[in-house]
Amino acid sequence: MTLKVVLAQPRGFCAGVVRAIDIVERALKKYGPPVYVRHEIVHNKYVVETLKAKGARFVESVSEIPDDAVAIFSAHGVSKAVEGEAEVRNLPVIDATCPLVTKVHNQGKRYVKQGRTVILIGHAGHPEVEGTMGQIPAPVVLVQTVADVETLTIPTDTPVAYVTQTTLSVDDTKEIIAALTRRFTDIQGPDTRDICYATQNRQSAVRDLCEVADLLLVVGATNSSNSNRLREIGAELGIPSYLIANGSELDPAWLDGVKTVGITAGASAPEVLVDDVITALKKLKPVEVSTLPGREENIEFRLPAELASV
Ligand code: SF4
Repeated sequence: MTLKVVLAQPRGFCAGVVRAIDIVERALKKYGPPVYVRHEIVHNKYVVETLKAKGARFVESVSEIPDDAVAIFSAHGVSKAVEGEAEVRNLPVIDATCPLVTKVHNQGKRYVKQGRTVILIGHAGHPEVEGTMGQIPAPVVLVQTVADVETLTIPTDTPVAYVTQTTLSVDDTKEIIAALTRRFTDIQGPDTRDICYATQNRQSAVRDLCEVADLLLVVGATNSSNSNRLREIGAELGIPSYLIANGSELDPAWLDGVKTVGITAGASAPEVLVDDVITALKKLKPVEVSTLPGREENIEFRLPAELASV
């Protein structure tokens, strides 16, 4: 029997990821290899390996970058301390931080200027969270769950404001925001239209996909926050859901009794890996591929001026 394969729309690369990869490729062209990238440019092994093959070197700390080498900061953003380290060393820096992440940094800075204590809703240890906490020039309180809000020791009449990690959607944060609003009498937060369009669109698309699929495959990396979230949504909706890096991780047993497989991809997963999963499915069964109607995305972010004409 033919297996139906339905693809989510939109899925995969967002404008911030396209821009970050483009920055590394153009920097390689302009300055020649090697260029040094602090942290994985985006959370995807395939992307990282492809850029490595072209001459990019990935390091976790600025101290690993040789003097005078071109340094690129990843799409997740960095703290002021990391920027300062590169400045002291006089390293030529190209910043590939997604403009939507920078927007969160700026929002946080504005709240501090207004005299508010900033609360960040996000995942501890994620590079974006570390960058955001380190960009806001005052102590930032991190909350990950509603339970965290309940144990906060900040007096309830303190003027506070919240910002959120970009890979969380309105749905992900609404309970935490509601708990914060219950707790604090003077609280502000950004307009919900300010959240990352790509996160919201991919999550809405995967919900639509789960209405027609009886198995969900999310193509992405295990350290990609937004890919994990897409898989969790499938699981929450009661569909067997798996996060896989490529077709080699497909387990044929998952297909037992399955008529329709839904496939989506995290914001840092290239389409070539979705194709790879479809190829792996085709080796097991005849398949018929279609794409769900969904939102068109036409967002493009401007490149840093020095690379725009490369
Ligand atoms: S998911 Fe959103 S915030 Fe993150 S890189 Fe993509 S566009 Fe930027």
